[in-house]
Amino acid sequence: MSRVIVITGPSGVGKGTLIRLLRERLPDLGLSVSATTRDPRPGEVDGVDYHFLSEADFDRLVRDGAFVEHAEYAGRRYGTLRAELERRAGAGEPVVLEIEVQGARQIRATLPEAFQVFIAPPSGDALRERLVGRGTDEPGVIERRLGVAEQELAAQGEFPHVVVNDRLHEAAEELTALVQEALAGPGRLGA
Ligand code: ADP
Ligand code: 5GP
Repeated sequence: MSRVIVITGPSGVGKGTLIRLLRERLPDLGLSVSATTRDPRPGEVDGVDYHFLSEADFDRLVRDGAFVEHAEYAGRRYGTLRAELERRAGAGEPVVLEIEVQGARQIRATLPEAFQVFIAPPSGDALRERLVGRGTDEPGVIERRLGVAEQELAAQGEFPHVVVNDRLHEAAEELTALVQEALAGPGRLGA
C-alpha cells in the first residue's frame, strides 16, 4: 500500500488533465476509479470514469467499511474504494488518487506514506475561467465549486508539494519529476 500518489486541489484546476499527461509519461501508473453519487456527465462511463452509485448503495459501502476515504463535496458524495487500491497496489502497481482536500486529509491520517501533491491555480480568475470553459457544470454548480475552492486553497499549506498549473506542459513536467522522484526508492514516498 506504499505506492499511493494523491493529487488534490480545487475543481477545475486541471487535476484530471495533468494526471492524463502524467500517465502518458509514466504508463505504469494506475488510476483508482472512485465511487460517486453525482450524475454522469455526457461521455462519462460507469466503471471507467467513476463507479456511479445511488445514495443507498454508497451508504451501504460506507457501513461495510469499503472506503479508504470518503467525503461530501458540493452536495454529492465521493470515495476511494479499498478494493481499487488493493487490486492495484497489491499487484505492485503505483496508483494515483484524484481526490478533494477532505479525502486527502483522511489519506494523510490512514496512509501517511502516500505522496501528496496539491495542484494550485495561477489565480482565482483562471480557476473560474477553466470551470466555465470546461462546459460541464451549470452556473450554480460552478459557484458552489468556487465557494469550496476558497477553503481548499486556504489548505494548500498543509501539503508538502504544491504545483501551480499555469502553463500546462510546464506543470506536467514538474508533476512528473516529483512523482518519478517519489517512486524512485523505498522510503521516499511521503517525504
Ligand atoms: P479538474 O480535474 O481539476 O477538475 P480539469 O482537468 O477538468 O480539472 O481541467 C479543467 C479545465 O481547465 C479543462 O477544460 C482543461 O482543459 C483546462 N485546463 C487544464 N489545465 C490548464 C492550463 N494549464 N491552462 C489552461 N487551461 C487548463
Ligand atoms: P467531479 O464531480 O468534478 O468529478 O469531482 C468533484 C471533486 O471530487 C473533485 O475535486 C475530485 O477530485 C473529487 N473526487 C473525485 N473522486 C474522489 C474520491 O474518491 N474521494 C474524494 N474525497 N474526492 C474525490
